[in-house]
Amino acid sequence: MLEQAILAWKEVLGPEHVVRDAQSLQSAGSATFKTSQQIPAIIRPSTRAEVQECLRIATRFEIPVYPISGGKNWGYGSRVPVADGCVLMELARMNQILNFSEELGYVTLEPGVTQGQLFDFLQERKSGLWMDATGSSREASMIGNTLERGFGHTPYGDHFANVCGFEVVLPSGEILETGSARFQNNCAAEVYRPGLGPSLDGLFSQSNFGVVTRMTFWLMPAPEAFQAFFFRCDNEDALPGVIDALRPLRLNGTLRSAIHVGNDYKVISGIQQYPWNETNHTTPLSIPLIRKLRKEMKFGAWNGSGAICGTEAQVRDGRRLVRAALTGKVTKLQFVNNRLLALGSRFAGASKYLTGWDLSKTMELAKPLFGLLQGVPTDKPLASVYWRKKTPIPEVMDPDRDGCGLQWVAPVAPLVGSNAQELADISSEILLRHGFEPQLSYTLLTERAMICIISIAYDRDVPGEDDRASACYSELEISLDARGYVPYRLGIQSMGKMRLEGPYADLLSTIKRTLDPASILSPGRYVSDGKNRPDKALRQHSR
Ligand SMILES: Cc1cc2nc3c(=O)[nH]c(=O)nc-3n(C[C@H](O)[C@H](O)[C@H](O)COP(=O)(O)OP(=O)(O)OC[C@H]3O[C@@H](n4cnc5c(N)ncnc54)[C@H](O)[C@@H]3O)c2cc1C
Repeated sequence: MLEQAILAWKEVLGPEHVVRDAQSLQSAGSATFKTSQQIPAIIRPSTRAEVQECLRIATRFEIPVYPISGGKNWGYGSRVPVADGCVLMELARMNQILNFSEELGYVTLEPGVTQGQLFDFLQERKSGLWMDATGSSREASMIGNTLERGFGHTPYGDHFANVCGFEVVLPSGEILETGSARFQNNCAAEVYRPGLGPSLDGLFSQSNFGVVTRMTFWLMPAPEAFQAFFFRCDNEDALPGVIDALRPLRLNGTLRSAIHVGNDYKVISGIQQYPWNETNHTTPLSIPLIRKLRKEMKFGAWNGSGAICGTEAQVRDGRRLVRAALTGKVTKLQFVNNRLLALGSRFAGASKYLTGWDLSKTMELAKPLFGLLQGVPTDKPLASVYWRKKTPIPEVMDPDRDGCGLQWVAPVAPLVGSNAQELADISSEILLRHGFEPQLSYTLLTERAMICIISIAYDRDVPGEDDRASACYSELEISLDARGYVPYRLGIQSMGKMRLEGPYADLLSTIKRTLDPASILSPGRYVSDGKNRPDKALRQHSR
């Protein structure tokens, strides 16, 4: 059957877009943790019509396919499909920017459009609009990230909340459009998300119901005034107080950007690789040593960044409110605008003179963050994935190729200090016990919820490390779940472990069987077809 499907795909796409050489397949099957899935072929459609035809062929021959857009899903599985034996459908060739409105602030994209491509597009047009960018890389896909409900840093940081009008190819090859876009010639297709009747957009994120071939992203008008702020807390117990102090400002709209708070281990991995000499080549980095390093480099036990956007008056007022809220809770608070940052970069020492805080050591980290707060994509944070590598960071980074170990656990919590502290306590104890640094960050993504990103970063080339990291990951996932902390997104290694019971899961299985009776689309990705119940290690809340 596979060979027949391959022949049919070659006819539709041309033989050069059906890839079968061992090296490409092996590289597509590599992630930042151990995987065993075999990929028999990669198909590379370039149009919606080709996607339709490819899915019809997959359904006819019952060959599972796994669509990816940018394939930069590092830490969650990279390009590797959830199930074994899936043909990878790479959508990178579908990279057209289809529609753009400066006036209404939107852009309509195909799945191959990357963060870098959209940014350059806006720059070329001297647009007064900001996109939102993740800290992933310039090459990550706008649509791929949004389908995972990823997030960035600006007031439009919650990506899934700022999109509409999906065009989806169903496993049958049929095309479905969501929201207002489903009505032909609807003049509000790009601006009014719900359309009429039940809203379906959500069905196509974190699911396996269709291949998304188009999406409209809303863009934010650049604000009249912008102030980034950075703070650090030398006190290790400061986290809950800071979170509780920021919540009212998030709730009342003073802070509309996604605020990020990271611990010392997170910060140091963004500045340098593991200090092998100072640790005498032992791991993990001990608590006394991280304390010493943060003192030397002038970062805190907890470190935060955020921005105030608005009119000059709003920003002035916002500054006052942020200062009032954080006074007494943080060791140092610094507001930074473009002028101060430029000065700081040019005269690293002078920034200390100007601000009283030596930003020079953390400038490397502060600069890309400052850009991200204005929606400027960057490759810089990717270097942190080489934290435990003993080899230098290459010019062209590729964590899958370079054996960088990375597994992420990403629980959601209410925006409450005690929850932040509990997440830190549980994860720090487990990670250190398993021999890894607890690199933690919290994103105050919405007015009421925060997402904690816990990284397990390691070197896959160290024998046994993959297994040790996976054992740590499993314990962490189970312990957090037991305390009610459910992830906002899953790695492929967790998808088979979700307990799929209850009316919610049953309805999803019914939808899956209806749309994809041959189960050819991304089998096992978030939704089961209900035929094979996976094991029950993870509790699924279906109240
Ligand atoms: C250092 C670092 C920093 C990072 N920072 C962030 C961050 O700030 N925010 C964040 O959210 N993530 C972050 N990530 C994680 C990840 O790299 C990003 O989420 C990235 O955007 C995902 O890759 P992608 O956009 O290329 O999506 P893809 O890999 O293309 O897509 C992700 C998944 O979605 C599904 N999918 C993709 N396209 C389609 C389609 N068209 N139709 C149907 N299903 C599809 C597939 O199952 C695929 O596996 C970071 C990673 C690293 C290493």
